[in-house]
Amino acid sequence: MLAIQAVRAGGPEVLEAVDLPLPSPAAGQILVRHQAVGLNYIDTYHRSGLYPLKMPAVIGLEAAGTVEAVGDGVNRFQVGDRVAYNGTMGAYAEAAVVPADRAVKVPADVPLEIAAAALLKGMTAEFLVRRCFHVKHGHTVLIHAAAGGVGQILVQWCKALGATVIATVGSDAKAAIARDLGADHVIDYSQEDVPSRIAEITGGQGVAVVYDGVGKDTWDASMKSLAKRATLVTFGNASGPVPPFAPLELGAKSAYVTRPRLFDYIATTQELDESAEALFAMIGSGAVKIDIGQTFPLAETRAAHEALEGRRTTGATLLIP
Ligand code: NDP
Repeated sequence: MLAIQAVRAGGPEVLEAVDLPLPSPAAGQILVRHQAVGLNYIDTYHRSGLYPLKMPAVIGLEAAGTVEAVGDGVNRFQVGDRVAYNGTMGAYAEAAVVPADRAVKVPADVPLEIAAAALLKGMTAEFLVRRCFHVKHGHTVLIHAAAGGVGQILVQWCKALGATVIATVGSDAKAAIARDLGADHVIDYSQEDVPSRIAEITGGQGVAVVYDGVGKDTWDASMKSLAKRATLVTFGNASGPVPPFAPLELGAKSAYVTRPRLFDYIATTQELDESAEALFAMIGSGAVKIDIGQTFPLAETRAAHEALEGRRTTGATLLIP
């Protein structure tokens, strides 16, 4: 089967196509034949070495497809079931073996492509708005990179919860996307000063929570945009990791900072299932629409990484085997 591996840590050029034997599931595992593979920013951290891995490695964490074989002792799934998963390394391939208790069933009315586009990014939005910080009616929230994969889902979920959403984006075209999703205010952070715009919009109060997946470049603006006793959720490094800071800086506003990981919020199978259920309910009700902004053949994964890191993507990106 075709698989894409990172041969060493580095730029997109380290991604190479390889022909690997089809794996067979061991006890407790299922073999999933992929219909679509989800591209995530974390894949670029695995490839670049920011999150170190033993190389060469078939990277990729998310895919949806059909169960082709089950290992001993698996009773969660049967051959033919439509499933998706979002935390097992090795998704950049035509098929992969996955622990049965780390995959979820895809509802009949959800296309597998949507599941592959939504499972990792959508569960991230789920835990960020419902469990990491609990967004409530009346909150004002700031969401960076709002036209991106996680960003688009965050905007819609926060609107559904009754929040006022301030979105940041890096271009006019992305601003239009954020507006269409329902963002109340849109700031182009490549042109405008974010803290001054936040002060203007909130009458000097600041926001209850900042969802910051951009990292290094937005850290200062995020800190300055917080209301008193507000929370800065720094959950990604698209522009590079946030440099060290002194806790004393939080004292200016009695602020909270958290640096969460999805996998700690779906650590048990029960949490995984509950998060999936909440996400599929939001998709099913139409409150959250999943935008597949672009697709690439699996063999062209390198170009997909270049587009994602070059800020040329919107919404979710799929790799098609
Ligand atoms: P996106 O689709 O959001 O792509 C990243 C976006 O970040 C770009 O489109 C761009 O939007 C913006 N950006 C700003 N500065 C830069 C820069 N210097 N280089 C590249 N992009 C930049 O990716 P994902 O939806 O896959 O992920 C979003 C973030 O969420 C990532 O940081 C990811 O690591 C994080 N994440 C964290 C999880 C966790 O558990 N902690 C789980 C899932 C995702 P624009 O042009 O508008 O600025």
